[in-house]
Amino acid sequence: MSGNKTLTMIKPTAFAKNYTGKIIDKIIEGGFRIVAMKMTKLTKDQAKLFYKVHQDKPFYNDLVTFMSSGPIVAAILEKENAVEAWRHYIGATNPEKAAPGTIRNLYGTSLQANAVHGSDSDENAEIEAAFFFSQLERF
Ligand code: ADP
Ligand code: MG
Repeated sequence: MSGNKTLTMIKPTAFAKNYTGKIIDKIIEGGFRIVAMKMTKLTKDQAKLFYKVHQDKPFYNDLVTFMSSGPIVAAILEKENAVEAWRHYIGATNPEKAAPGTIRNLYGTSLQANAVHGSDSDENAEIEAAFFFSQLERF
C-alpha cells in the first residue's frame, strides 16, 4: 500500500528568483494538501545529512554547497499515492527533460537548481518530514 505524504523543498535558486508563490499555487492546483510548511536555511552539515544517500555521487559536494547557499521552503504534502504523484507532477530531475508545464520545467534553471525536491519513497518521505517537522508542526 502506498502512503499519502511526501516532502518537498523549494530550492535556493527558485526561492531567490521569487518563484515561491507560483510554486505554492502549483502545489494547490495539483490537489496536494499542505500539511506543514516553513522557510528555513540549511547549514552545510544539515544539507550533508539530508542528502547522505548521495554521499558517494560526484555531484554530492556541489549539491550540499548549493542547498545550504540560501533560504529554502520545506513542506509536507498530502495526496493519495503522494510520493509518485508528486514526482510525476514536478517532472524529471533534469528540467530540460521535464515535461512541459511541470514545476521543474517551468521553474528549474539547471540539473542542480531544478526548483524543487521530491521524496523517492514512503520510507524516505517520513524520514525527510521528520528532519524538518515535529508532529506538533503538522496540521
Ligand atoms: P531527484 O531530486 O529527482 O530525486 P536525485 O535524488 O538523483 O534526483 O538527485 C538529488 C538532487 O541532486 C537533484 O534534484 C539535483 O538537484 C541534484 N543532481 C542530481 N543529479 C545531478 C547531476 N548529475 N549533476 C548535478 N546535480 C545533480
Ligand atoms: Mg532523489
